[in-house]
Amino acid sequence: METINRRKFVKQTLTATAALAVPASAFAELITPALQFSQVALPYAANALEPNIDALTMEIHYGKHHTAYIKNVNDAIAAEAINFATEKDFFANTSKLSAKARNNGGGAWNHNFFWQVMKPNGGAPTGKIADAINGTFGSVDKFKEQFTQAAMTRFGSGWAWLVKDGNTLKVGSTPNQDNPMMDVSDLKGTPLLALDVWEHAYYLKYQNKRNEYVANWWNVVNWDEVAKRLN
Ligand code: MN
Repeated sequence: METINRRKFVKQTLTATAALAVPASAFAELITPALQFSQVALPYAANALEPNIDALTMEIHYGKHHTAYIKNVNDAIAAEAINFATEKDFFANTSKLSAKARNNGGGAWNHNFFWQVMKPNGGAPTGKIADAINGTFGSVDKFKEQFTQAAMTRFGSGWAWLVKDGNTLKVGSTPNQDNPMMDVSDLKGTPLLALDVWEHAYYLKYQNKRNEYVANWWNVVNWDEVAKRLN
């Protein structure tokens, strides 16, 4: 009898506590980091960019490399109690971050961006993005030359970028997983287009021929996504 009463008491107390408690979501915000990176769904099948980017490279790149960057940056955010509210703030304060947070945060964001600015049968830029490129670089071909130069001269691992900086466009590159939103980056601006020139992005198909990878990659640039980011 005494046992039953005690159980009843415990049950009633728990019910009353639950009724008074703040919503679980509000409580979770107090005990979990503000920012979490998540991996975008690949907007096409892994073999959709063949023959320019092969399916096995896509599967490993998206499923292993990118997944690891996402996990590792979120681990760093939790372990180091990094408390920025947005990705923009995170990158604007990169100089204060650990190497693990910087490298994996860049890797998480850059690849999410990269998947979205590609698609099968990319075509050519049109409309306002073509106007902006022509206005800054003289022609789309001249822009491609400069961008290719940036991709080819990035020694070791890194990224080539087209960015919007104020009212102008710029081409350049960053080392490792840095990006133009980072306060530590020499190249600064809003990313419009990016190309991963890490060997893991092309080595299975192209081996040492980064030039062929870059040349074929133009076939899969999603210019509609680039144009959206011009706004
Ligand atoms: Mn990569």
